[in-house]
Amino acid sequence: MRDPHKHHTAGRELAFRRGSAPAPVPRRSDAHADITACRAILEGLGQGQRMTQADAEQLLATPAILNEVGRDAGAWAREHTGDIITYCVDTNISYTNVCDVYCRFCAFWRTPGAPDAYVLTPARLRHKVSTAVAAGATQILLQGGHNPALGIEWYEAMLQDLKGAFPSLQLHALSPSEIHHIRQVSGCSLRETLSRLHAAGLDSLPGGGAEVLSDEVRDHQSIRKMSADQWLEVHKVAHQEGLRSTATMMFGTVDLPRHRTEHLQRLRTLQDQTGGFTAFICWTYQQGPTVMEGNGATGVDYLLTSAVARLFLDNIANLQASWPTQGPAMGQVALWYGANDFGSTLLEENVVSAAGALHRMDEAAIVRAIQGAGFIAAKRTTLYDILHVHPSPTEPLLGSKA
Ligand code: SF4
Repeated sequence: MRDPHKHHTAGRELAFRRGSAPAPVPRRSDAHADITACRAILEGLGQGQRMTQADAEQLLATPAILNEVGRDAGAWAREHTGDIITYCVDTNISYTNVCDVYCRFCAFWRTPGAPDAYVLTPARLRHKVSTAVAAGATQILLQGGHNPALGIEWYEAMLQDLKGAFPSLQLHALSPSEIHHIRQVSGCSLRETLSRLHAAGLDSLPGGGAEVLSDEVRDHQSIRKMSADQWLEVHKVAHQEGLRSTATMMFGTVDLPRHRTEHLQRLRTLQDQTGGFTAFICWTYQQGPTVMEGNGATGVDYLLTSAVARLFLDNIANLQASWPTQGPAMGQVALWYGANDFGSTLLEENVVSAAGALHRMDEAAIVRAIQGAGFIAAKRTTLYDILHVHPSPTEPLLGSKA
């Protein structure tokens, strides 16, 4: 019987003897030009130029440039925050799962009256918070659905109750879409809503509900949610009221590089005006049991988007690695690609986990992950003040006794 492998090998030898080159490995015809263009962008940044939206789009569309963007984003982070990687101890309490927005990417909401719909009582909320405080929490991330039955007085009472019981705890609560919902239900202006909640105990705002700040994407995934302009307006007024906030981006549904760069551009423009964002956090859509399609954002998409964001958002001091969605190993890699913060413990988390992200780490595991990635771990407050720097491990990480 004829041996096809032998025949193939003999054919190759014959081809080499005749001096012909092996067939070239297929490559994208424009790959070389793309990389050259990307290198020119990075060189311009090195000379002090500010990245444009078109530059960011070119970088995001060129996966082959990942390591070079990551190198520069990592260098940016080391120059600004040194070798310290911060983290926060907190819990993410969802005060209600009732929501009438029905985002297509969300698996958390329940309709009013559903058998498993809930609103936490003050006693239940206090119990959850005191459990987190006993575990070392310095911040409570408090978010929930857009419950049409809850007006501003309910939120004021919740904040006053928790502030009274835990005066030194940072209440990092109510994302812009919840603020927008509260003002609609209560008939208040945006400024009055924020000022009343601030007076009741609200300390800072999380950046949830941003998804991708492009109405082309938002109209497809959550038509009943606030627009990109409205999301930015809540942050702007919050910053004017003296509240700090974080900015987020969840990508990997139907968005394209141009939508992500529009998002980054809009954040940077607002930050130039107010300076109120403390950090940027991006993560990829978790498809899980939701009805929304996804474009399958990969690990390279995540790292490249995170690194490009680091270089683009030159006016936002901190970038978080998103290990709850990407996993601890990818979170460690992100620290070498521009992230300077490992997020928080999220002792309890309901929204992202409902969509299928199941990664969990306690404080000890976070410290080990940071140190294992080659950095110094430090516990921080919500506003990025350092509370405690962990000494570097003196034992080898693998406990070698040789
Ligand atoms: S993401 Fe928020 S606003 Fe959208 S359905 Fe889920 S809970 Fe409601």
